[in-house]
Amino acid sequence: LERKEPNYFGAGPAQLPTSVLQQAAKDLINFQDLGIGAGEISHRSPAGVEIVDNTKAYLKKLWHIPDTHEVFFLQGGGTTGFSSIPTNLTASFAKKHGKAGKPAYVITGNWSSKAREEADRLGFETQVVVNAKAVDGKFGDIPDVSKWNIPKPEDTPYVYYCDNETVHGVEFREFPFDQFKGIEVVADMSSDFLSKPVDFSKYGVVFGGAQKNVGIAGVTIYIIKKALLDYPTVGELRKLDIPIAPIAFDYPTVVSKDSAYNTIPTFAVHIIELVLERLIKNGGIKNQEQENIKKSNLLYSTLEKYPAIYNLPVSKRARSRMNVVFTLKDKSLDAIFLKEAAAQKLGGLKGHRSVGGMRASLYNAVTYHSVELLAQFVENFAKEHQQ
Ligand code: PLP
Repeated sequence: LERKEPNYFGAGPAQLPTSVLQQAAKDLINFQDLGIGAGEISHRSPAGVEIVDNTKAYLKKLWHIPDTHEVFFLQGGGTTGFSSIPTNLTASFAKKHGKAGKPAYVITGNWSSKAREEADRLGFETQVVVNAKAVDGKFGDIPDVSKWNIPKPEDTPYVYYCDNETVHGVEFREFPFDQFKGIEVVADMSSDFLSKPVDFSKYGVVFGGAQKNVGIAGVTIYIIKKALLDYPTVGELRKLDIPIAPIAFDYPTVVSKDSAYNTIPTFAVHIIELVLERLIKNGGIKNQEQENIKKSNLLYSTLEKYPAIYNLPVSKRARSRMNVVFTLKDKSLDAIFLKEAAAQKLGGLKGHRSVGGMRASLYNAVTYHSVELLAQFVENFAKEHQQ
């Protein structure tokens, strides 16, 4: 079970630490000497329950999640996250206000845009707080709060934003919570999950698909304020004409069954457990954040040295530490860049089809050494092609 350490910058699914995968591979065959693997045991067996409980406990410890908040897991991905938010959060809003209200969306890239489209598709009346593309003509910045339309708390079940826009490489340094007093804040952290400390007391819900920073595809992690788990009955919601969530995505139901209302992908959760264990051993979330800052600074500063060759489309204040988006000024060099990078075993660099150019994803498992190799390549390529 050996492999050469990869230098892989794909946006997701993403590289995981080799040591985690080696342990997981053993556990897939024979978990804790049970003579059966972690993907084969029942999610209701003692070993299955322990995997879920440990993973929750590690996450709470590592990310300093307060007791006011609950952690749970669901199948599906980030999409299941933003699809299941409107029905769930309007239900808890209706418990207090007797109506669904109008979900509010901060749109800074394609994932928050999709989340808002989904809420519309499900029949909710949404409010747009700001759409960065409408302000700037493109995604690549977080508009100043003076340009936002702040919704009214009495009409607004939640304000939704995407903390890190994976495709456009736009990341919030700090969401302007002060502007949203009395409104639950919901964040999609699929692509910067566990990459930095988070003050959970400011959030109603944080969710993230596992397959970038914490595991493999198949699980989404949710952190929800417990006070939000109180819903009207299905009959009451019907009377109010509020759409209800499918049972497997009904948050109070899943929480009441400790994430095992239906079959949880136990093996995928176990991989998260191993990733968390390793993060705790390696000094915790602050250390990981420092490493992520160092890695992204190295790459951005190298790209900035060659403005004749590289273009950085994201404004400096909104640059993502996780997804470094850049384009080559001469597009005809794109294929050569990717080919030469691949020849040096630097993989996963092609940008998203909607943006073009390149994207280097520097998730937690990508080492500083890998980023040094990439920065060196970026430098050599620029020198070679600079007139
Ligand atoms: N949200 C963000 C920020 C993402 O990056 C992605 C996927 O890349 C998604 C949501 C959708 O995730 P999934 O493909 O797991 O549904």
